[in-house]
Amino acid sequence: MTNYGWIGLGNMGGPMTANLAKAGHQVRGFDLNPEASAAAAASGVQIVDSIAEAVAGAEVIFTMLPKGEHVRSVFDGPDGIWANAAQSSLLADSSTVDIETSQFCHQRSTDLGFHFVDSPVSGGISGAAAGTLAFMLGGEPEDTERVRDYVAPMSGKTIVAGAATAGIAAKICNNMMLFIDLMAASEGSQLAEHLGLDPQVFWEIASVSSARSWAQQTWYPAPGVVPTAAANNNFDATFRVDLARKDVGLALQAGLSTGVKLPAAELVSAQLDELINEGLGDKDCSLIVKHASPDGTV
Ligand code: NAD
Repeated sequence: MTNYGWIGLGNMGGPMTANLAKAGHQVRGFDLNPEASAAAAASGVQIVDSIAEAVAGAEVIFTMLPKGEHVRSVFDGPDGIWANAAQSSLLADSSTVDIETSQFCHQRSTDLGFHFVDSPVSGGISGAAAGTLAFMLGGEPEDTERVRDYVAPMSGKTIVAGAATAGIAAKICNNMMLFIDLMAASEGSQLAEHLGLDPQVFWEIASVSSARSWAQQTWYPAPGVVPTAAANNNFDATFRVDLARKDVGLALQAGLSTGVKLPAAELVSAQLDELINEGLGDKDCSLIVKHASPDGTV
């Protein structure tokens, strides 16, 4: 049995910690949101009232928080992880954050005598619930090997991407490609429909043809075609527009710092911004299909 400390018990952290508890591990969890805490308690997580209590006695401490600013605030300051954890606790951030935040966490951890691994995930809330997430790790080899064991109950596949921040770099590239693919699936679905094709038949053709992608397979934005698509449920979020915008923004930020040109990502970002400006930031990102519809209805 391992003692885990866990900060952030939301859509992802909730089911991830549930799998740890189910595997017989002890998880002490903290979240600012009482509803998230109550749901985690029901699946066997010991809920505590502070970061200090969550990290006490933990062999490994995970953070699963919305953005870089949340990660920095949870690690830093007198109430944060660095001030309250033992140096023997291994630190792992599984949030999707900017490379600068991840670099900051690595550097400060090293300066303070901690070991830190960036350990973002892919697979969505269904992968979190099923314990099949893909973990991509960045850090020192001995630290990434330790994290590999700690994430096993939550993971279908764990790949060491390289040194510090390599995991988060892989995650940013992956998600940028995902949202560009989603835009392609959206435009394809609308054009097929308005050329008179049966949506299910076209989806089957695309599935065995060169248009196949994860977004096309899983999020195809026409109702009644793919069981996992938010289009079946009035675009209620499985992956929110505003979180998708955050992820594409991380890629654009990385493009600026490297000089890489990302015109397709810029277009996706502008379309997600339009949805946010229309008050649809909490809907599913596959609502991007609205932009391809002749009259904006889907
Ligand atoms: P979420 O908003 O559902 O959960 C985040 C949780 O963090 C919330 O419950 C919130 O109350 C808590 N929190 C925020 N600040 C806190 C603080 N200072 N102290 C304690 N708790 C705090 O988000 P999520 O969907 O679980 O995503 C978490 C991260 O994982 C994000 O970076 C997201 O981009 C990434 N991610 C999400 C998915 C997905 O499909 N939802 C998939 C892969 C990666």
